[in-house]
Amino acid sequence: MKDFKHAVATSFDEAATLLADGKSAVIAGGTDLIYGMKGMHSPNLADTVIDLKRIPDASYIKEENGVLKIGALTTLTEIAENETVLKKYTVLAEAAKAVASPELRNMGTIGGNICQKPRCIYYRNEHDAFPCFRKHSDGKCYAITGVCRYHSVFGGLGGCFAVCPSDTAPALVALGAKIVTTKKTWEAADFFGLDQKKFNGENINWIDADEVVKEIQVPALASGAKSTYKKYAFRKAIDFPLVSAAVIVNGSKATVALGGVYNTPKLFTDVDASDAAAAGEFCFAKAKAMKSAQVDNNSNAYKIQIGKVLVKRAITELK
Ligand SMILES: Cc1cc2nc3c(=O)[nH]c(=O)nc-3n(C[C@H](O)[C@H](O)[C@H](O)COP(=O)(O)OP(=O)(O)OC[C@H]3O[C@@H](n4cnc5c(N)ncnc54)[C@H](O)[C@@H]3O)c2cc1C
Ligand code: SF4
Repeated sequence: MKDFKHAVATSFDEAATLLADGKSAVIAGGTDLIYGMKGMHSPNLADTVIDLKRIPDASYIKEENGVLKIGALTTLTEIAENETVLKKYTVLAEAAKAVASPELRNMGTIGGNICQKPRCIYYRNEHDAFPCFRKHSDGKCYAITGVCRYHSVFGGLGGCFAVCPSDTAPALVALGAKIVTTKKTWEAADFFGLDQKKFNGENINWIDADEVVKEIQVPALASGAKSTYKKYAFRKAIDFPLVSAAVIVNGSKATVALGGVYNTPKLFTDVDASDAAAAGEFCFAKAKAMKSAQVDNNSNAYKIQIGKVLVKRAITELK
């Protein structure tokens, strides 16, 4: 376990100011951050951990002028069980419910969920055993020649094939949510990605090292639209999505955001929902399996077929 100092922020702006030293990280539920500190996954772990949990009024779910507002410190359990979210923004409630286990959902927050680090097995190896280029400027990608069965089927941003591990990310992208930080308001569709040059190579999103998520804003669905989240993982509980699909159907059209298949949620709008199977084929038409020759029985082709079925099931259920 890495030794670290502990500081308490009493506002999001104070947390952002404390982050400016470039050697600190904020902590919300701690279910991802502490896992990384214990495993010593990265050479860039924080020297100081800044606690967000004492910030007043940072955990809430409310509707204002037709917009659902969720404080960054709201737990996944609170989102999954909230009546308004369940009824009107079902895809988000189901995505929050799909995360890990009850214990982790009771601790884990929505802010932490969309700011968690990648789950690539090489990136997460203890004591930085595989110094890949998400952590080291002179590193390489081990998935290209190694185990790639959990990785992207849509290519890799900047040569990294780690998928976006967040369950709520595809739901927020499908819903057209906004993410309000201490610096700006992001469209969820623009929020996720990676940029080696900006020194945020270990992030799954574009936020700066001194930027903190304050609130998620979700516009109301069109009248008559229905939504759902489908997830496939090897285990029924406590497992990240191998493939997931956040789907909204409005009449003959669907919006689909795929999870677990690319570095970011993969968004498709105006999908023809009249033929659910064809919609699944359409979303994966450009998918290409990885196969690395140096490891036996190693390909992620299975993700493509599973993904098509998830989209088909979601649309069939919603029509
Ligand atoms: C066994 C296990 C299984 C898991 N399964 C899943 C799963 O199925 N699906 C899934 O999506 N996740 C899963 N997770 C990951 C994690 O539990 C969740 O993503 C959780 O929502 C993280 O929230 P947290 O509040 O605990 O984040 P923390 O651990 O507190 O923080 C995570 C990261 O986000 C940053 N951060 C936290 N809050 C903010 C903020 N407001 N602004 C900016 N940065 C912030 C932290 O600095 C840290 O880098 C799993 C974790 C474990 C240990
Ligand atoms: S897929 Fe990305 S995180 Fe995994 S080893 Fe390759 S560069 Fe590193």
